[in-house]
Amino acid sequence: KRRLSDQQKSRIDKNQQQLIEDYQNNLTGPEIRQSIVVSHQSRIASILDEDNKTIPAIMRQSIGDIACGDKVLWQTNLEDQASVLAILPRDSTLEKSHNTGKKKLVAANLNQILIVIACEPEPKLELLDRYLIVAQNAHIKPIIILNKVDLLDDIDDYYQRIGLDTYQQLQYPIINASAKTGGGLEDLYNLVSKKSNIFVGQSGVGKSSIIQSLVPDRDVQIGRLNTSLHGRHTTSMTVLYTLQHGGEIIDSPGVRDFGVWHMDTKEIENGFIELQPYLGQCKFSDCTHIHEPECALKTAVEKGKIKPARFDSFMSIINR
Ligand code: GDP
Ligand code: ZN
Repeated sequence: KRRLSDQQKSRIDKNQQQLIEDYQNNLTGPEIRQSIVVSHQSRIASILDEDNKTIPAIMRQSIGDIACGDKVLWQTNLEDQASVLAILPRDSTLEKSHNTGKKKLVAANLNQILIVIACEPEPKLELLDRYLIVAQNAHIKPIIILNKVDLLDDIDDYYQRIGLDTYQQLQYPIINASAKTGGGLEDLYNLVSKKSNIFVGQSGVGKSSIIQSLVPDRDVQIGRLNTSLHGRHTTSMTVLYTLQHGGEIIDSPGVRDFGVWHMDTKEIENGFIELQPYLGQCKFSDCTHIHEPECALKTAVEKGKIKPARFDSFMSIINR
């Protein structure tokens, strides 16, 4: 395996920078094209060509970590072999942390995180809060989907019973859906269309069913990917599906029900938007919000500015 010296690496990085700049200023020839990464494995990325065909492309050395949703510059050589030359700057990234603390890039350039909950299995709102923390810190818009509403007699009553009304009051968009009856799926399609989306949520809430209905040609797309990657294990891979009217859905088995995202205190605080006016206002600067007098957070809870359930969730996540 060829190793690159630091000097070589920084020269290559500069070359990539230059290429990106030239491309953005229309100074490159027609041989340099832009595409999106559908999936990748070791040094091979599957990208979409002009005809929306999935083709394998070898990643140029020292290109750095690549992710599903990355926009890349590529070209083909004389043997018609495609290679990825550079990764364009990302609007956003979603990372997963391993229990070793090492972070792994899951997807790039996402606009929306769709957090799926369902009345069955009964939602754990602390998990919902965790997803909201991730979205907030990644600067990606969260949308909550309550799936399986076909099982409910009274949706409003249900919102109140489990405390979902709190999230409505906090202005988080919530869509009521049923993958079974198709209810709400048209609204959902309109929301995800022309955007880059990822679905998360605990297992069994209906993510696969929803994705299947939003991407009716999913099997065709998977088939093309399998051909392009020569039958590698696409079932365990993060895959980008294109939507019929533009936009993408990234399906990542590994993050669907992630629970072990690394989050530090600052990130957790950021994730609770209603806490923001009160943070740093406690009498003691190292207030643990448990037993200290004149705790701004507890006062805000008593005054009804912060919902007790959200405060409890915050305390439980921060003290884990
Ligand atoms: P995932 O683990 O989140 O991908 O969930 P699945 O899509 O595999 O769905 C889990 C189970 O819930 C399956 O048995 C589905 O048939 C069922 N399911 C999915 N959506 C709905 C729905 O809207 N209503 C009802 N009643 N069942 C659903
Ligand atoms: Zn306090």
